[in-house]
Amino acid sequence: MSRVRGYGRTHACGELRREHAGREVVLCGWVDAHRDHGGVRFVDLRDREGIVQIVADEESPAEAREALARVHDEDCLRVEGSLRVRAGAPNPERATGEVEVLVRRVEILSRSEPLPFEIEDELEAPEELRLRYRYLDLRRAPMQRYLRLRSRANHAIREALQGLGFVEVETPILTRSTPEGARDYLVPSRVRPGSWYALPQSPQVFKQLCMVAGLDRYFQIARCMRDEDLRADRQPEFTQLDLEMSFVEEDQVLEVVEEVVQAAFRAVRGEAPPVPFERLSHAEALRRFASDKPDLRIPLEVVDLGEAASRLEFRVFREVLDQGGLVRGLCLPGGAGLSRKQIDGLEQAARDAGAAGAAWCKVGESGSASGPLARFLQEEAGRAFLEAAGASPGDLVVTVADRPRRTLVALDALRRRAGELLDLVSPGDRLVWITEFPLFEQDDEGAWTPAHHPFTSPVEEDLEALRGGRREGVRSRAYDLVWNGVELGSGSIRIHRSEVQEVVFQALGIGPEEARERFRHLLGAFRFGPPPHGGFAIGLDRLYALLCGAASIREVIAFPKTSSGVCPLTGAPAPVDPEQLAELGIRQEAAAEEPEAGNLEEPAGPA
Ligand code: ASP
Repeated sequence: MSRVRGYGRTHACGELRREHAGREVVLCGWVDAHRDHGGVRFVDLRDREGIVQIVADEESPAEAREALARVHDEDCLRVEGSLRVRAGAPNPERATGEVEVLVRRVEILSRSEPLPFEIEDELEAPEELRLRYRYLDLRRAPMQRYLRLRSRANHAIREALQGLGFVEVETPILTRSTPEGARDYLVPSRVRPGSWYALPQSPQVFKQLCMVAGLDRYFQIARCMRDEDLRADRQPEFTQLDLEMSFVEEDQVLEVVEEVVQAAFRAVRGEAPPVPFERLSHAEALRRFASDKPDLRIPLEVVDLGEAASRLEFRVFREVLDQGGLVRGLCLPGGAGLSRKQIDGLEQAARDAGAAGAAWCKVGESGSASGPLARFLQEEAGRAFLEAAGASPGDLVVTVADRPRRTLVALDALRRRAGELLDLVSPGDRLVWITEFPLFEQDDEGAWTPAHHPFTSPVEEDLEALRGGRREGVRSRAYDLVWNGVELGSGSIRIHRSEVQEVVFQALGIGPEEARERFRHLLGAFRFGPPPHGGFAIGLDRLYALLCGAASIREVIAFPKTSSGVCPLTGAPAPVDPEQLAELGIRQEAAAEEPEAGNLEEPAGPA
């Protein structure tokens, strides 16, 4: 325990061990449990370090005995007494299980009402209730552990970056729209009616301004806010480690991030994966694993069956190929042993990912195929197809034929499902950089948008093509970090020459006027000698959830929102007074929905 402490506290409850026996102790904490055994009273007293047993027997002062008789669960107590080796049997489940405190004096610092749920490690309570009483939920040991690991990892990251010469800078929360491309959260200005701040989707613009400002190396553990459609593992606000460096190329940014990720691993797990992490270009990742976040623990690679498929008498394959689609597949070693139901599961994974389906065949001992694809695999062309798939007797070949994007998405899903099904996921951690992402992507309406953000630099060699009006296939200097198939973060080398920035804006259909309007602060700064620079951002909620083995990112966030974006604790979002709106010059048209009840209005629930 810290040397700074009040209330006469000598120890933390959870740190007491056999070697402390004989000491006089003063402890503060909460009643985890209380019981009476034939006149001997026991209280389990809990603080953040753990639980210790407090006893009052016949010889204890009457006042202390009576006080212990009157406690309820979660009352807050101060206890004086002497530590002794347990009179009864030790409790091997508990770190303090060999000792107990024979109490001399008990002070009830505050009382607790009946609880909405028990404070236990394994909790069945619905998440909504846990979030409504988050301060009680956080009293539980696993939650204390998550928050403390998070704090320790944040500290380790800061230390690593300070050591590398980074300067921690806090950037504004009330700002203008940033370029990440999601919807902004807006905050009305009272002093300038009709004008709005935007909450930052990331500190992207400010960190680049820090480079123009000559800071050379910036970082921040930053809150980002994006008004996106909610998904199970997404929060409207999240935390990212944001960094930026001047006079660097990809290698230096990647090296720094590797060092930081190692520091976070060590802080949480005590050991770190080796560096340098693996690297794959985006094109290679798509070709071999059908994914820009491949799970490299699964030793299955996608095969291009287009050529072999074009020689089969199979109309579906032919039509897909004629329309510019792909026929690709996976050969699952030993997959012929899978049951029909398991194979249906694989097909379903492809369908869930948006493909029309998956055609498959098993390869028998004689080398002949069976299953839905088999009748198209006649003679030489059929043999060539199986050979192209790399199939041997006992294997299962699963194929997807669809539009390019859909084929890849479906194969990625198939590959992951097959890895689990055949128990192929190797233990350990695979961290991989995916480099040279495309500069642009097309949205559903066919419009070209930045694949990362509009300040990402194109690869030098592709600049000529870009100037010539080409967008498709133009590579960028953007990179992602992927851990066991999960994207941890992204970054890029930025554009620092205004001529290149103009070309990119043009390719995105952003005219000079619009560019000035949207990004005037950055473009303005770039007139004054911007250094070459690049950076990265890691989503810390996800990283920590994975490192701690938590079930969701909400477990490692102190006060998260539900998956529908609501905070059951505070009741946010909530309607505001009409006067507040009037003051801001805002008229509300839609009636506000009923507010979520804050927890003071609620009855305390079951005793
Ligand atoms: N600002 C980017 C993001 O939040 C990361 C970066 O480019 O540094 O995704």
